[in-house]
Amino acid sequence: MKNRIIAIKANITTLEVDAIVNAANQSLLGGGGVDGAIHEAAGPDLLDECEKLNGCDIGDAKITAAYDLPAKYVIHTVGPMWDGGDFGEGFLLESCYKNALDLMLQYKCKTIAFPSISTGMYCYPIEDAATIAFATVIERLKDTPEIEQVIFCCFSDYDLDVYNEIMSCNEFLTL
Ligand code: ADP
Repeated sequence: MKNRIIAIKANITTLEVDAIVNAANQSLLGGGGVDGAIHEAAGPDLLDECEKLNGCDIGDAKITAAYDLPAKYVIHTVGPMWDGGDFGEGFLLESCYKNALDLMLQYKCKTIAFPSISTGMYCYPIEDAATIAFATVIERLKDTPEIEQVIFCCFSDYDLDVYNEIMSCNEFLTL
């Protein structure tokens, strides 16, 4: 089914989906980039809830309410910092997507939006990261009909082009 996976250019804080994913750091106490934007838009109650979570390991994910955001939940995941590729970065990035999808299902979410995890301050090359993101999501969608839509929420035209290119090269894949 087409449109179960789409890439768009948007500010993730504006999306009316069941869950948005935050590319957080291990403290879960806020940071820059998409993390800062999410905390800013959700309001201070998000930080209060995050303070009770005791941080999050790299590759893991934790869920909170979304407070002032239009989404219902925020799924906080911690991507790996790029260190050349020989330190398990790919496995950890895949874990972020898998664990976020697990959590959305646990909380009966049907729609989710991902930012491009690790490709900002954590410097993961966007082409490699988007390939992992797409492959991990499409694999899960095959056996999970309850997921209605996964949005890759890009923040630049370049990132959107990369995602669209990867998705068009894989059009033959059926969900
Ligand atoms: P990381 O530390 O995991 O690299 P960043 O927040 O620095 O996280 O960047 C992850 C991605 O999120 C980057 O592509 C960045 O451009 C993008 N980004 C930043 N702000 C937003 C936003 N408001 N909505 C969607 N994506 C965003």
